[in-house]
Amino acid sequence: MLDLRVADFVRLCRQPGCPLCAARRQAEQRYIEGVLWEGVNDGHFRAKLKRSLGFCPEHAWVLQATEDTHWRDGLGTASIYHDLARHILEMLPNQAQNGPAPFRSRLRRWLAQLRQRLWPTAPAARLLAQLAPRQPCPVCRTGQGAEKRIVNILLDAWQMEEVQAAFSASAGLCLPHLRQALARADQKATAFLVETTAKKLDQLAADLAEYERQHAWRFRDEPKVEREEQAWVRAVAFFAGEAVEPEAERVYLRRRHALEIFHIENQAEVAGEQPPMARGGASSKDSPATYRDET
Ligand SMILES: [Zn+2]
Ligand SMILES: [Zn+2]
Repeated sequence: MLDLRVADFVRLCRQPGCPLCAARRQAEQRYIEGVLWEGVNDGHFRAKLKRSLGFCPEHAWVLQATEDTHWRDGLGTASIYHDLARHILEMLPNQAQNGPAPFRSRLRRWLAQLRQRLWPTAPAARLLAQLAPRQPCPVCRTGQGAEKRIVNILLDAWQMEEVQAAFSASAGLCLPHLRQALARADQKATAFLVETTAKKLDQLAADLAEYERQHAWRFRDEPKVEREEQAWVRAVAFFAGEAVEPEAERVYLRRRHALEIFHIENQAEVAGEQPPMARGGASSKDSPATYRDET
């Protein structure tokens, strides 16, 4: 069993960047693809999403980009958010009626006013409580589970030769993941993590120094080493962990298009005009014409 877990860890170390960032990213991506393949209509999943009120902003957009990229439509996302929109809609009218209860006596009115003065609460406090997620984003939880699993492998097996070799050959842990591992490491594992991180960080600092030196005007013609040239990006990756992959241009354009098309039609409707697109294609500068769906 340990061998299988070790093989997992070694595989992650063979990829560029922090192995824990890779584990988290892969688990999150697998989860989102699994949802889109077969989980969209799963009742248990839908109930979970109602408790978390959907996904965190980062993973909501990863879901949208994944479906747009792999399926070139949004049926899964539409179905998930249709359900959630109805769920939120059910809360709203109830809350509108949940204003101050009718007071039967002056004394009760006075007590309510006193309470509001002593412990002021927003009129929407009850609604705000309902609109707050009761559970974290399920994708975040999956990613955190993967991080925890890989930290455990590292801490259980760091003394194995193949683990040490793979870990030394990797980028090492980013700072957020180093903190996570140190929080659970015993004394010997702590010493190992500190030593390997110091080695990586020392090399990064040397590369950064060389990058700064070579970019001074008088050294501008010196031949550059690619690893040093990229050191400033690696420095950010060490302190912040791996960045979310940027979406493809097509995905970005669809997002802009979706907002722009509604904006244009809504403005026309409010002004009592026919929407420009309904008149057979807009030609104005407001036209969201840059987006092309190539399905
Ligand atoms: Zn990391
Ligand atoms: Zn999330």
